[in-house]
Amino acid sequence: MPETHVRPQLVWGPKKLPVPFAAAWSGEEPDISRLIARPFGAGLAYSDEQPEDRDEQGVLWARLSIAPGSGRPVFEAMHSVRQREAMLHRLCQVCGKPAERTEQGWLFLSQYTELTRALQDSPDQGFTSKPPICPPCARLAVRLCPHLTDPVVIASANPRVWGVSGGFYVPNHDSKAVPYPKDDNLPYHQHPDAERWFLASQLIVHLTRCTPAAI
Ligand SMILES: [Zn+2]
Repeated sequence: MPETHVRPQLVWGPKKLPVPFAAAWSGEEPDISRLIARPFGAGLAYSDEQPEDRDEQGVLWARLSIAPGSGRPVFEAMHSVRQREAMLHRLCQVCGKPAERTEQGWLFLSQYTELTRALQDSPDQGFTSKPPICPPCARLAVRLCPHLTDPVVIASANPRVWGVSGGFYVPNHDSKAVPYPKDDNLPYHQHPDAERWFLASQLIVHLTRCTPAAI
């Protein structure tokens, strides 16, 4: 995957609010113009595909330009490359520095409803697309982020890469790839026939050995 090389904390507005490292910016543009359906049902590809277009599991990712600081921050959306980088390297989604393991594990901040839905069946585990967060940034986000109306902080002693979220595409009669109108989540290696028609945009992590955390 491409390196983003961006670490300085970007700020926004007259109050110079910190913009999370993983947040998307309006000037970062998607580009799937070269997305094609390979012949004989071989799945999706880009006509000029580069190695960084696929992740370590071989799944194709949506292209999005990397230009943090351009346009306006889109606080409610995450940039696919920085989101994946933060998940894989356990970087704080706000400051972009290593999130550091606490005594209980790595901290994950989410909306209460989002996590409890996942935690319903097994209270000590869940799934999230929100990268980890360091304690000072968690305190900051709870105080400042307008999208976190009902925040909860969970510590996971063993967060594991589970799969991707994104969407399926199907080939049309021109061998073009057209989106199947529904976002979805796909676990790695469970559905190889489906996986080759999937365009990923976020990495999903399975949080195990979870406990509520105070920040
Ligand atoms: Zn941080």
